Amino acid sequence: MTPLPTVAPADMMMRTYKDRPISFVSGQGSTLVDDDGDEYLDLVAGIAVAGVGHSHPKVAAAIASQAATLIHTSNLYGTTPQVELADRLAEISGGKLSFFANSGAETIECALKLARRFHDGARTGFVATDGGFHGRTFGALSATGQPAKQAPFAPMVPGFTHVPYGDLGALEAAVDGDVAAVLLEPIQGEGGVVVPPPGYIQGARDICDRTGALLILDEVQTGLGRTGYWFAAEHDGVDPDIACLAKSLGGGLPIGACLARPDVAERFQPGDHATTFGGGPVQCSAAIATLDVIVEEGLLNRSATAGQRFAGGLKALGRGTVRGRGLMLALDLEAPIAGAVTAAALERKVLVNEVSASAIRITPPLVITDDEIDHAIGVLAEVLDEI
Ligand code: PLP
Repeated sequence: MTPLPTVAPADMMMRTYKDRPISFVSGQGSTLVDDDGDEYLDLVAGIAVAGVGHSHPKVAAAIASQAATLIHTSNLYGTTPQVELADRLAEISGGKLSFFANSGAETIECALKLARRFHDGARTGFVATDGGFHGRTFGALSATGQPAKQAPFAPMVPGFTHVPYGDLGALEAAVDGDVAAVLLEPIQGEGGVVVPPPGYIQGARDICDRTGALLILDEVQTGLGRTGYWFAAEHDGVDPDIACLAKSLGGGLPIGACLARPDVAERFQPGDHATTFGGGPVQCSAAIATLDVIVEEGLLNRSATAGQRFAGGLKALGRGTVRGRGLMLALDLEAPIAGAVTAAALERKVLVNEVSASAIRITPPLVITDDEIDHAIGVLAEVLDEI
């Protein structure tokens, strides 16, 4: 047999991602180290995943210990970490029941199916928002309010209506007796870190209460301390019927949780929804350790205060508009230079992410220090002077 040729791994991968400028080999806290041994200050955090920092020792130890004990059983059998994680999530969500998935998109699929199940065929529609992002599977993509991402894969799943984000009048007009659920991000993430006007999330709650539609909040990016609370909807004092978490939940491992009020969750019967890997013991142990770290290191408060320092520093640059809450921030430069800023910051070993042509997104680990924030602001100042 002729041996397979040796090729760079990227040659054998589908071209779904842009060419990667750099390859990392290790990370700790807010620092990543590349294959030349150079250190980078990471303001991306694996797209809002490394909330507790890279390879947090407590999370790494929980993963190693669980991996050496039991890695997988399927959901035909129970495991202690899964039960414990559901209890922990119930504590922070006002008693919601969990379905464990493997990604953000999968939590959305679960939420959409659960909403239809709840209404038992009487209501099938969904209202979501322009610019919203909920993932790339067909249900989640159909909910995503970004036509350019949908167009190559049309037709979408029927039943979705999109309304302008932040416009309660438009939402009210769209929620009729066929709408099973309204699906919103409390702050749009991939849409550019868009904070809705005050009262919007509460207004959406009220519309759902008046019409009988469920309120699904996609907290995949905003949840678990990113904005200074467990859930960003707490800024508005709103409790959704269903909330979706993923990204930072597993401290870097893939796990998502669709959380629902008990009377909603109980409509799912055995066999209605499932996934082979969901809630596996390693991912759940990582998530429990992640929640422990958030509590032990006071990361909800830290996110709020560090976010104020970061936002203050960005505003003081006087180079654009600063949006966001806690450590979910964007600097909108009001000119299409976000790509150039991202590249120039990378050269200075600071990672930011171009969330639109004009805006860079800043979602660092919640453990970022004041010195690191000040360094990042200094580098951005240099870069903006240069461009
Ligand atoms: N929902 C929101 C708000 C997101 O930001 C994302 C990912 O960026 C998703 C859902 C999809 O998550 P995943 O990429 O894990 O499928």
